[in-house]
Amino acid sequence: MKELLRKIPKVDKLLNDPELKELLGDNPIFFLKKAVNEALKEIREGITSGKFKELDNSTVKEKVKENLRKLTKPRLHRVINATGVVLHTNLGRAPISEKVADHLKEIITGYSNLEYDLKEGKRGLRYRNLEWILKELTGAEDVCVVNNNAGAVLLVLSALAKGKEVIISRGELIEIGGSFRIPDVMAQSGAILKEVGTTNKTHLKDYEEAITEETALLMKVHTSNYKILGFTHSVDRKELVELGKKYGIPVYEDLGSGSFIDVRKIGLSYEPTVQEVLKSGVDIVSFSGDKLLGGAQAGIILGKKELVEKIKKHPLNRALRIDKMTLAVLEATLRLYLDTDKALKEVPVWKLLSQPMEEIKRRAEKLLKLTGKTEKAEICIKKDESEVGGGALPLQKLPTYCVAVKPKGFSISQLDCKMRSMETPVVGRIKDGVYLLDMRTVFDGEVELMAKNLKRALEES
Ligand SMILES: *Cc1c(COP(=O)(O)O)cnc(C)c1O
Repeated sequence: MKELLRKIPKVDKLLNDPELKELLGDNPIFFLKKAVNEALKEIREGITSGKFKELDNSTVKEKVKENLRKLTKPRLHRVINATGVVLHTNLGRAPISEKVADHLKEIITGYSNLEYDLKEGKRGLRYRNLEWILKELTGAEDVCVVNNNAGAVLLVLSALAKGKEVIISRGELIEIGGSFRIPDVMAQSGAILKEVGTTNKTHLKDYEEAITEETALLMKVHTSNYKILGFTHSVDRKELVELGKKYGIPVYEDLGSGSFIDVRKIGLSYEPTVQEVLKSGVDIVSFSGDKLLGGAQAGIILGKKELVEKIKKHPLNRALRIDKMTLAVLEATLRLYLDTDKALKEVPVWKLLSQPMEEIKRRAEKLLKLTGKTEKAEICIKKDESEVGGGALPLQKLPTYCVAVKPKGFSISQLDCKMRSMETPVVGRIKDGVYLLDMRTVFDGEVELMAKNLKRALEES
């Protein structure tokens, strides 16, 4: 054992190794030191525990190389989404287009007129570049944009209903991912929750009977990620607006995803667009910037001027303000919506949702062909269903094609794990004992790398 321990190379020798130095490239030397220390620790422990019976120089160096490759890769990195969930919150929701990314790069690698009025030569307003286009697209009187829609809900309730009552249907007291619960947000804002109706049925008279001097808002929340089916009733948006008008109480709707495009265009069943909701007379709406809008993380608040002004003046607005990266991505994305056909073609989320089946199939065939023959698994193309995701349209599915892999002699979860551990990880899904790679959410440029990963995963299993 002593003999083996003596054979471990010196730290300095490894730090000066030309091959390791080349692999480090222009990364901070910190990473090489850490890679060496971790490798030597592992080897020392392996020797003392009796796991390593012999040691040659290349074992140590290979360990360092492996560590170094892992350490120098940023922890936030690209992943290939083969889950078929277009708006996958855990995988970063909406991808943005190259063109939008180019604009973002231009803005953030230098200075910009973020808050500077070039005509007057003095301070300008951060949001003016978004305001005009959101008004143009939706017909809203006024606009406020914050960090995300959870923030938007908190801000709207704080600004319009603090210390007052907000009436909401019991069936809409939702929890969405990341412990965002309407009752908790309401409590945080200082507004008093007044729930009406029952879980499955709420009628207009339930709202009306709950109205008092203390009522500040009638609220509607999109039940984004679940649906009550069967013996149900909820109050129509128009009826609620009428009721609000009768008593002079504003109506606020948290739309969750909020689409500018009629989803029937891509074969899904009807959901009102943001424009339609505003047109129906709802006073304030809010929705996310990175769900069906396909832009950056943001919470967009639209509605009546006097209410939005109150919202804008609230101190939380400053605390939740968006940065130039968000602004750049949102403006460039929103511009595309001035022409619906352009948006369908150029906003990646809409492109992924509306792509023809043949295109998805072609990608599946390419993956199958590039992966080639193997003894390790049965591979074929299988028709299945993709999801919109992001909590939007929970029950609606889109037909898709997957590459289905049934491993021979090892488990599906082993294959799944292996695919996730690749340098560019691939996240697929498991269904009915088959590992599925859904080609709807895979980009053309990713298929080759996917095939390489799949081949390697199968060979090494
Ligand atoms: C997604 C969602 C939110 C939260 O939006 P974020 O932009 O993720 O903060 C709030 N309400 C509903 C109904 C949602 O679907």
